[in-house]
Amino acid sequence: MKYNFLGQTGLKVSELCFGVLPMGPLQTNVDVREGGDIILEAMNNGINFFDTAQMYRTYPHLRHALENYHNDVIITSKSTAADYAEMEAAIQEALKELKRDYIDIFLLHAARVEGNPIEKRPGAWECLMDYKQKGYLRAIGASTHAISAVQALTAVPEVDVIFTLINKASLGIIGGNADEMKKAIEDAAAAGKALYSMKLLGGGSLLDQIQDAIAYGRAIPQLAAHAVGMVRMQELALNLRIFNDEPVSKEDLTGLKSGKTWALMASLCSGCGQCIKTCPSFALEMKDGKPAVDESKCLLCGYCAADCPEFAIRVK
Ligand code: SF4
Ligand code: SF4
Repeated sequence: MKYNFLGQTGLKVSELCFGVLPMGPLQTNVDVREGGDIILEAMNNGINFFDTAQMYRTYPHLRHALENYHNDVIITSKSTAADYAEMEAAIQEALKELKRDYIDIFLLHAARVEGNPIEKRPGAWECLMDYKQKGYLRAIGASTHAISAVQALTAVPEVDVIFTLINKASLGIIGGNADEMKKAIEDAAAAGKALYSMKLLGGGSLLDQIQDAIAYGRAIPQLAAHAVGMVRMQELALNLRIFNDEPVSKEDLTGLKSGKTWALMASLCSGCGQCIKTCPSFALEMKDGKPAVDESKCLLCGYCAADCPEFAIRVK
């Protein structure tokens, strides 16, 4: 496993970052012990970088692995907290749930925000700065799918880390294509920002070309790591082979498909439209009073399901 310094944070992360989102209740809802064992196996195989979020509800999976692992790891969490008090509660929840004295990286969770997410949630950002100052966080920044947000965050001196979306097919990138996002990444790195990527596989859409899709991201030198979601030992083994530059056989690729689908329980849906406002990929629109999904845009992230007050959406 290759390890890279994450910008100027002083953190040295494995190039393969374990994305914990898909094993949580927003997606496959893997049992805590089973999911934790997969995370532990990743730790035992050299992955030291884990990406989660308050919204993902995967702290128990991570904690299970941490309780059985005795070396240090680097954890990112993030929150959609709107103000200081909400962000303070989110940080304290992460510290308590993960049983840690500090969180390595904490981000404004700002997937679909265009422009500067800090300007939209100044209190939440002030809290991140205060908690970094007090030593509870080592690095702070934001996660985004938008080129304009990467550009805006580049200009903020206090931003350490930008976690951004890129893939070879430009799936889910807000405000342009992969080449334009790559340029924004280069500019951000030149300004001293640490960057790592999400969704190289487009939420599963590029699984049939997994090696090329991962190679595309690894060839961008400004990206220190790539968060890849994993819910099965087979996926972990395959991703370890790819990132360790080991040969991949046809058998390794057999049965590799996301199998995830987006589904609406129409009888539960009140037609409130909240999911449409939440979707970072603009994949939902109202049809006959209910949301309909454009499968060519949906990255199966599950954020709409998390925000539905009626629990009417399933992403599984
Ligand atoms: S948020 Fe839930 S209840 Fe509201 S429109 Fe979407 S699916 Fe229906
Ligand atoms: S429709 Fe839902 S699952 Fe699909 S990209 Fe939008 S928020 Fe994510």
